[in-house]
Amino acid sequence: MSEEYKGGNTEIVSTNFIDEFVKEDIGPGGRTEGMQVHTRFPPEPNGYLHIGHAKAIYVDFGTAERFGGICNLRMDDTNPTKEDVEYVKAIKEDLHWLGYDWGDRFYYGSDFFEEMYQGAVELIEKGLAYVCELSQEQMREMRGDLTTPARSPYRDRPKEESLELFKRMRAGEFEDGRMTLRAKIDLASGNFNMRDPVIYRINHTSHHRTGDKWCIYPMYDYAHPFEDAMEHITHSLCTVEFEAHRPFYNWVVENVTLPSKPRQIEFAPLGINNTVLSKRKLRVLVEKGYVDGWDDPRMPTICGLRRRGYTPRAIRNFSERNGVSKAASTVEYAFLEYCLREDLNMTARRVMAVLHPVKLVITNYPVDKSETFTVENNPNRPEDGSREITFSRELWIEAEDFLSEPVPKYKRLYPDGPECRLKGAYIVKCTGFTADGDGNITEITAEYDPDSRGGDPADGRKVKGATLHWVDAGTAVDAEVRIYDNLFTVDNPEEGDFLDYLNPDSLEVLTGCKAEASLSGAKPGESYQFMRQGYFCADSKDNKPGRLVFNRSVKLKDGFKPGK
Ligand code: ATP
Ligand code: MG
Repeated sequence: MSEEYKGGNTEIVSTNFIDEFVKEDIGPGGRTEGMQVHTRFPPEPNGYLHIGHAKAIYVDFGTAERFGGICNLRMDDTNPTKEDVEYVKAIKEDLHWLGYDWGDRFYYGSDFFEEMYQGAVELIEKGLAYVCELSQEQMREMRGDLTTPARSPYRDRPKEESLELFKRMRAGEFEDGRMTLRAKIDLASGNFNMRDPVIYRINHTSHHRTGDKWCIYPMYDYAHPFEDAMEHITHSLCTVEFEAHRPFYNWVVENVTLPSKPRQIEFAPLGINNTVLSKRKLRVLVEKGYVDGWDDPRMPTICGLRRRGYTPRAIRNFSERNGVSKAASTVEYAFLEYCLREDLNMTARRVMAVLHPVKLVITNYPVDKSETFTVENNPNRPEDGSREITFSRELWIEAEDFLSEPVPKYKRLYPDGPECRLKGAYIVKCTGFTADGDGNITEITAEYDPDSRGGDPADGRKVKGATLHWVDAGTAVDAEVRIYDNLFTVDNPEEGDFLDYLNPDSLEVLTGCKAEASLSGAKPGESYQFMRQGYFCADSKDNKPGRLVFNRSVKLKDGFKPGK
C-alpha cells in the first residue's frame, strides 16, 4: 500500500478509493500484478442513458484511462423480455458524444450464452448446482429467515438426474416456471443471496439477438461475473446495491472454470434532486406522453441534456467533481447547471435577442438612417472575433425594461427616467409611450445622444440607468424560445408516486421573440449567450432554415456556490 504506483501511466489525475484498490492490485505482489487494467461499462439495452450512467461511465472508462488500461462496452442483454436494438444504437451514440471510445471491444452478454450453459453443467457435475422444482412462491415460502435456514426438497437430487433435467430444460420440454437451476451453496447463510440462488430459469421468449435458440436464460447474478471473466475484466465496477451480491460473484468466479478472475468493487450511485433517474420511470414519462420523447430537453437523459444544450465537457466535469465514494448522496441539479454555465461562459458567442418584445422608437434618429456597430463575439475569447449589428430608428426591447410608472429603485426606462445604455450602441432617455385600450404598451419613445456612439463605458460617460439589450426592428429575425423548468415539483420525486409530482409548468413556449440578424443562420445544436438572459441552444429537431427555435439551456445567474 505504501508503495508509489509505478505503472505505465504516471499521471493519475485524481485519486479515489477505487484507484487505491486498483493500485494495490496492480502493484508488486498484487492480485493482478503486471496486468493491464481492464474495466467495462455494462448497460442493459432497455432504455436511454441518463446522467447517473454518466457517472458509471466516468468511473469505468476513467479508471481504465488513469491507469493506462482499457474499457469494454457491453450490452447486458441476458434478460430477453425488455431489450431493443433502438437502445443499443442510442447508447453507442451517447457514449461517443460524451467522448468515450471502446475500440473493437464491444460485446453482448448473450455472446456467452453457450459458455454460461457449459459453466452451469460444470457446476452440476461438481455437485454445486441442482434442478429445483419449487415454484417461485414455494421458494419464497421456504426461504427461511435470519434464524431459520431455507429449504428445498430437491437439494440432494443426484447429479445425473439434474444434468438430465437441465438438458431437457434447454430442449424446451418444460413450460415457464416449472423448474430452475440453483447453485448449491448454503441454505443457512446470513446473506440471502447465498441461500442456493437460482442461476437459470425457463423463459419461452424470443431474444433480440438469439431469437428462439434459447428458452432458458441465466440470472443476472450468474451472468455478470461470467461475462466479466470471459472478457478478461480485471476490475468490475458497479453501484453499491450489488455489494451483497459480491459473495456470489466471487463464488461463481471461484467455482466455474473461467479464463480470468475479476474483482467487483462498488461505488455509490448518483442521485440528483427534482428528477428521477431510473430507466423504468423515465420510460413511463415517454410512453405516457408527459414529455416529447427520450430526448425531451427536460429529461435527465444524455440525449435530453444534449438537446437542452449541455456539452460533453460540462457533463464530464460534473461527474468528475462529484467524486467517487461508497456513501450515497444526492447532488443538486444546480451543480449540473453550474458546470454547464462555466463551460458555455468560455465558449458561447454573446448575442442579443428579445424574448418579450416591445417597440422602442428613437424619435430624434433619422427615419431612413441605419448604421452598423462592430461587437465582440466573446469577451472571454478574443480569437472568436467580432460581428456587425445594425441600428436604426425602431428597435425591439424587452417589455420588462420599461414601466409606465416607475417603482422604487427601478433603473430602466420610464418617462423622464434615467439615461440608459443600449448595449454596444447609444445612450437613450425615455420620453413617453403609447398604450392600447386595455393598457398594453404598444410603443415606447426615447431620444438618443448622438455623441454617445459606441456605447463603450470608456467614453467616460456614466449613466444612472441600466445597460439594456435590444434588436434592430429593421433587420430582426423571429424566433421561438422554449423555457424549461423542473420536471417535478418536489425535491425527491422517487418517494411516493413520481407522477403525482409532475410540474404542469415545466415548459413555456414563447413565440414572436426577436433576435439579431446574425442568428438567422443558427445551426441545430449551436449554443449562444443571449445577453442578460441566459444560454440558449438551437433545437436539434425543430430549428430549421427559416424557423428559429431555441431551448433555454440554463439561466445566467444562480444561487449555487461551489464548495458550499
Ligand atoms: P436504471 O435503474 O436506470 O435502469 P440500471 O442500473 O438498471 O439503471 P443499467 O443499464 O443496468 O441501468 O446500468 C449500467 C451501469 O450504470 C451499471 O453498472 C449501473 O450500476 C450504473 N448506474 C445506473 N444508474 C446509476 C446511477 N444513478 N449512478 C451511477 N451509476 C449508475
Ligand atoms: Mg440494471
